[in-house]
Amino acid sequence: MQTYSHLILTAVLNRKLKHQAQRNPNASARPIFAGQGLPPLKSTALLIGSVAPDIPLILLTIGFIASDMLAGHKMGPDLDASQSNVAYLFRYLFFHNRWVLTLHNLFHGPLVLIFYMAIGYGAWRFGKNWGASLFWFAFSCGLHTLVDIPLHTDDGPLLFFPFNWETRFHSPLSYWDPRHYGNYWSPFEHLVVFGMLIYLLVGWWRDRKVKINLLSPHS
Ligand SMILES: [Zn+2]
Repeated sequence: MQTYSHLILTAVLNRKLKHQAQRNPNASARPIFAGQGLPPLKSTALLIGSVAPDIPLILLTIGFIASDMLAGHKMGPDLDASQSNVAYLFRYLFFHNRWVLTLHNLFHGPLVLIFYMAIGYGAWRFGKNWGASLFWFAFSCGLHTLVDIPLHTDDGPLLFFPFNWETRFHSPLSYWDPRHYGNYWSPFEHLVVFGMLIYLLVGWWRDRKVKINLLSPHS
């Protein structure tokens, strides 16, 4: 899925979790599976976690595009790895370079995310406030990865990183590749994102009105 779609989807989840916490002020916000005693919701960490897995590759892409521009290389999606640096990044380095594999799977690899969640949870239990943030950050990265896995055909997260550097789930559906229904998925994804944006905007507008009414002396 597109990085911004992950953000919007998680913003909807954040809103639901916040409401759940408000309705039950004695309990901290709990995820849907109603696990008791989870760390209190950290919305900022949750939202950052929704996009964090993709940030290293986005930064690398920007750097490689800049180097192509400086070198006067051709640009375009159909170039092969010898024609441009960006093509080399996506056609070769992404699959074979240990640095690129590490950067991309640091927040995509399911096993490392479970590890971060466990550290966050443990730290929170030991009274460290950052533990709750790390827990929700890693939880959100995990949601991102759960969505990514069925939407990538051969370029998805490394399932067993860092123990295995090759195994990915080969989904019949790709969010971008037209050879794997990406041309059908993409309009569907954008329609859903558009709907979620309207939901968020309407909710934000209503909350704002409620706040104004509460502040107004005539209400
Ligand atoms: Zn991703």
